[in-house]
Amino acid sequence: MIRQAKGKTPRRPPPKKPSNNQKDPVGVYCRVRPLGAEDEECCIEVISNTTIQLHAPDGLKANRNGEFKETQYSFKKVFGIKTTQRELFEDVAKPLVEDLIHCKNGLLFTYGVTGSGKTYTMTGSPGQGGLLPRSLDMIFNSIGPYQAKRYVFKPDDKNGMEVQNQVDALLDRQKRDSQTTVPKTPTTRRIDPEFTDMISPEEACKADGVDEDSSYSVFVSYIEIYNNYIYDLLEETPYDPIKPKPPQSKILREDQNHNMYVAGCTEVEVKSTEEAFEVFWRGQKKRRIANTQLNRESSRSHSVFIIKLAQAPLDADGDNVLQDKNQVNVSQLCLVDLAGSERTSRTRAEGSRLREAGNINQSLMTLRTCIEVLRENQMCGTNKMVPYRDSKVTHLFKNYFDGEGKVRMVVCVNPKADDYEETLLVMRFAEMTQEVEVARPVDRPICGFTAGRRQRNQAFKEELTRRLEERGGPVDIESPTVLNQLFQSFLHFLPMMIEEYNKTANMLKSVLQEQDSNLLSKENFIQEQRGKLGEKDKMVQNQKNEIDRLEKKSKMLEYKIDILQKTTNIYEEDKRSLQQELESREQRLQREVSEKRRMETRMQGIVTDAKLKWEKECERRVNAKQLEMQNKLWVKDEKLKQLKAIVTEGKTENRQPQRPSREKDKVPAKRSASPSPVPTGPPVRPLHRRSHSAGGERWVDHKPTTNVDLDTVLQPNIPNAIKVNAPNEKALSKCDKYVLTHQEVASDGEIQTKLIKGEVFKTRGGGQAVQFTDIETLKQENPVAASRKRRSSETGPDGEPVEGDWTDVETRCSVAVEMRAGSNLGPGYQHHGYPKRRKP
Ligand code: ADP
Ligand code: MG
Repeated sequence: MIRQAKGKTPRRPPPKKPSNNQKDPVGVYCRVRPLGAEDEECCIEVISNTTIQLHAPDGLKANRNGEFKETQYSFKKVFGIKTTQRELFEDVAKPLVEDLIHCKNGLLFTYGVTGSGKTYTMTGSPGQGGLLPRSLDMIFNSIGPYQAKRYVFKPDDKNGMEVQNQVDALLDRQKRDSQTTVPKTPTTRRIDPEFTDMISPEEACKADGVDEDSSYSVFVSYIEIYNNYIYDLLEETPYDPIKPKPPQSKILREDQNHNMYVAGCTEVEVKSTEEAFEVFWRGQKKRRIANTQLNRESSRSHSVFIIKLAQAPLDADGDNVLQDKNQVNVSQLCLVDLAGSERTSRTRAEGSRLREAGNINQSLMTLRTCIEVLRENQMCGTNKMVPYRDSKVTHLFKNYFDGEGKVRMVVCVNPKADDYEETLLVMRFAEMTQEVEVARPVDRPICGFTAGRRQRNQAFKEELTRRLEERGGPVDIESPTVLNQLFQSFLHFLPMMIEEYNKTANMLKSVLQEQDSNLLSKENFIQEQRGKLGEKDKMVQNQKNEIDRLEKKSKMLEYKIDILQKTTNIYEEDKRSLQQELESREQRLQREVSEKRRMETRMQGIVTDAKLKWEKECERRVNAKQLEMQNKLWVKDEKLKQLKAIVTEGKTENRQPQRPSREKDKVPAKRSASPSPVPTGPPVRPLHRRSHSAGGERWVDHKPTTNVDLDTVLQPNIPNAIKVNAPNEKALSKCDKYVLTHQEVASDGEIQTKLIKGEVFKTRGGGQAVQFTDIETLKQENPVAASRKRRSSETGPDGEPVEGDWTDVETRCSVAVEMRAGSNLGPGYQHHGYPKRRKP
């Protein structure tokens, strides 16, 4: 029973349940359907009207323990294969419909494997209507005459019900009538043939004790739960053949009284069984289409048909529903055709036994868990949380298990042996469910605010008695004698009454006519208003269209802006990265440039250093060479002078044959201590005199590196000399004597070594100068070559015998000239004086 919210009822804590400790177990019924084929093996036997027995089929005779399998299961009632739809309805659903009419909620679901007869039980087939059409039929049979006009009750979208005033209801009705799509009054002809004669008229039944002082309205909703999504099967969506929209799922909400409901679910007000059937059929059709289009397996979906009954007392006149929301009572009956309870998808995996976890219907598993927890809580006094919220099915019906209404379940079984194992599981669940108790809903006193309809009838009765009394008749209108008298007097008064009646009738007629004209003008007015309304509607529609257009446009623009924004962002990003790249490259370039500059300066430094070094070195070498050459030149000059002197001397002494110290020459490597090959006798020049105090003098012994090491026995050895291979200032400054060891090739091809000696003296500029004073010649000779030479020289070029070498001046001169020509100096080189060395 869903009570209307009363004013400012605080949302929490939940409203107190009716203080009722009485509980009823969930009513579990079992229906065994007939076997599909006569020859099929059967595994179920109905033992009594409360018990069935399950036999394991031949293939499965023994369970794991080897026990014989034959189990009995008891139910509130068992319906065998011969049970008619009507019988089942009488026992199972009729009490729920009676409850509904008496403001109590009910939940009825069918449970079982696919093909066990759930849908047959719930919906049925033509001529054999199931629980659903029968329930609807019974409701309308019971409340038919007491129904409120359409749109007097109006669902408020929050699971509540409002009472509209007469004018609003009338306007709504007119609007409905003007909409051509909605059938004005359902006629049996327009209803799908499948539903035309679900129930034969003689089977019609009716509830007792319907409150005549109330006005009723029936609302139906039809939802499907598939894959834990809720779909509204009665939702009117404009069909788009080009791009059909997939059905939108609905969500569950809790209303002010903590009852769960499907938010935004369509609730259709129906006024007759036929109309209700039609609505149901519409939903069925939609379900079929959706299942085909989306390739769903219908056996895996739960369908829930909700019948809501709104009732409210009539006002004191008995004409209108009392305009008080708080007086409205809404009760509902949910008829649920659950999905097949089997663990495997039969259509796709027939025979193959997939593991239970693989393909189980999650909602049913949650239902089983909820039932288990409920039972455990009730039996063991525990307070475990029941996981209603884990699935939409259990969540939607949680209030029922919490004591908001009666719960009944029809367990459908197919006795065929193939289903044995699944049926066993179904039985176990059914047994367990029976142990769950649900609080019994309290009887709500039929609201006694104003017994409108009855009061009106009573008033008529009272008026009659009064009139009889006036005529002196008996007062007790109930006794038979009085009734007889009453009848006699009635006959007596009949002509008078007829007259009075005619009078009244005429009067009424004129009143009616008056009212008719009134009504006509009112109708005209309404027509006028309707026209205006239509215009306004059009305007509103136009504006709506405009708004739609603008909205679309703005969306489009927004989209464009979005895209542009994104593009800009991308470009900016690119720009940033390019700038960064540029900067880094510039930095690198600068670094490289500065590096190059540094390198350049370093190189310049190195070059200038090297240049300077090499300039110095060159200068030094040139000077050394110059010195050496000058020395050589000087020596040659000296020799030439000596030769000249010898020649001139010889001529003046009339060519006196002189024996040169030829003996010495004949000895190889003989050291000539005498300064030059001067013939004996010439005056000894002081320059040529060797100083005997040489031991006290300091010599610079200059031996150029180009000199060849000769294997001579006699080697010039100057004690305490500074040995150098190039003349240098430092050495010269420390010494007072200088000797240059000079090698050259003599005319005979032998190397001759000359020791050119000089004295060192200081120059005025602070430098050192050498004045050459003496030359010592050391010569090596090959004895063979020497003898040959001697022979040849003895014969002479002209064949004349020669007396001695040194007697021939010409030969000596040629030797001197040869020596000069062997020097490295150019032909025009002239020696002008002693070389001098200066500091640079
Ligand atoms: P479910 O909904 O459990 O899958 P159905 O209700 O569709 O099963 O039943 C499968 C078939 O069995 C249907 O053709 C139905 O007419 C038939 N059937 C089920 N129960 C009965 C019954 N009690 N008597 C006769 N036919 C039945
Ligand atoms: Mg079915």
